[in-house]
Amino acid sequence: MEFKKNDYLTVTIEDMSSEGEGIGKVDGFTLFVKDTVIGDVAEVKIMKAKKSYAYARLEKLITPSPYRVEPTCPTYRQCGGCQLQVLSYEQQLAFKHRKIRNNLIRIGGFEESFIDNIMEPIVGMENPLHYRNKAQYPVGTDKEGNPIAGFYAGRTHSIIPNISCGLGVTENETILQIILDYMKENKVSAYDETTGQGLIRHILIRKGFTSGEIMVCLVINYKGEKGTAPKTQGSSATAGAKSNTEGTVQAMRFLPTQDKLVDALAAVPGMTSISVSVNTERTNVIMGKEIHNIWGEPTISDTIHVRDMTKEGYPLTGQELTFKISPLSFYQVNPVQTEKLYSLALEYAGLTGKETVWDLYCGIGTISLFLAGNAGKVCGVEIIPQAIEDAKKNALRNGIANAEFYVGKAEEVLPEFYEKASTENAQNADMLHPDVIVVDPPRKGCDTACLETMLKMQPERIVYVSCDSATLARDLKVLCEGGYEVKRVRGVDMFGMTVHVESTVMLQRRGADPAH
Ligand code: SAH
Repeated sequence: MEFKKNDYLTVTIEDMSSEGEGIGKVDGFTLFVKDTVIGDVAEVKIMKAKKSYAYARLEKLITPSPYRVEPTCPTYRQCGGCQLQVLSYEQQLAFKHRKIRNNLIRIGGFEESFIDNIMEPIVGMENPLHYRNKAQYPVGTDKEGNPIAGFYAGRTHSIIPNISCGLGVTENETILQIILDYMKENKVSAYDETTGQGLIRHILIRKGFTSGEIMVCLVINYKGEKGTAPKTQGSSATAGAKSNTEGTVQAMRFLPTQDKLVDALAAVPGMTSISVSVNTERTNVIMGKEIHNIWGEPTISDTIHVRDMTKEGYPLTGQELTFKISPLSFYQVNPVQTEKLYSLALEYAGLTGKETVWDLYCGIGTISLFLAGNAGKVCGVEIIPQAIEDAKKNALRNGIANAEFYVGKAEEVLPEFYEKASTENAQNADMLHPDVIVVDPPRKGCDTACLETMLKMQPERIVYVSCDSATLARDLKVLCEGGYEVKRVRGVDMFGMTVHVESTVMLQRRGADPAH
């Protein structure tokens, strides 16, 4: 049977794609239906038909799935950010576990029974809402000319007003409302992408979950007067405001009646840092390069605790690390689950205190420092120089002296290091054949040159932390062909309501003594 655009069909959703669309079959013809979940029986309309499959739109739910729950967000369908919001959290976890499993089987070429044997239960969240410590809201203007903040409607650049996204902290709404009220009262314009005019582009809010400290950064299209610095005024930012740590820095003026806004924001409990980021480029990149602190501290802090992932409830071990976060720093967005993810990576690394460890794609050194407290020596590698500067400061701040950091691409730094260290009586020869290599690459996974060098280095164990199980599976195949065996696999849900999932994998060198 052939189906074509605009046909109506009734379909039972039997599976879900890795992007969260429901999948059903009618006469062997596969339908992908957004906004449906496993177990739904739905009437759908074909939007785009191919030979053996089609994309269809949900028209009417005939029998809702028993796994369906009410969406908590009124604009969840327009936004598209929470692909799984109408699926019960338990089923979200099951979906994510399956996603990792299926990728390992289909892409990695592992046997089903082998994967089912070694895969550990996914680490879920206690509360799959309000988990994000960072929010970035675009600002615009509605038809009546009022300032709005919200999110871009799926794949477009039109802003749907919504200042209370359920994934973020409740303070976001208070802060956004203060800024919108200030804009309205003081006729401060929102940026308009089509003309490049207008002042306020984005609002970045970050919160340290353990410290309770809050940071607001307004991204502004501030053109100023050519060649002149923004005006400075007064000896402190605002009357009654907390003075800057250095005590000498005077707040610069970027916004009309800036004090009014600063005073209102400073009154929000936990407010610690207010800054502006100047971005005058016509680009989709949110943050500008410069950050100017206009009130309080330039950073907020947060603490990550080590947990014992082998015990129920994952109790704290007593070890902890404190980080300073600036508006531009990379920092995991779900701090509660990050503790579990890093603690799992640490457990998989199997450290006893004397090991040599590489931490590739180390960011601001969070995993490296976790490992360093339990290893002989750790070397981190990261492409962004600013992140490495942060990593070094974080090491100092936490009194860690056995971590070194290198700036560069893992696929360049590691092979160069290997060549150099293996040809001469080099410094750092102990890192030539490390005990453990940990990798936490971006979605595209590891470069072949990086994987090849890892294999040459012959570590006892490799710990692979991944945010994309498809590239993870591809890379595991290479590592297994190169003499490693996958021993442990576990998913960690860092992004409730969305289709994303983190995975942690432990590989062991074939013939390695598991006791070491
Ligand atoms: N492990 C860190 C960061 C993980 S995100 C944490 O948990 O916080 C991945 C990191 O890899 C990012 O910081 C990114 O800047 C970095 N990166 C991307 N491509 C890279 C490459 N080719 N070599 C080294 N680092 C890279």
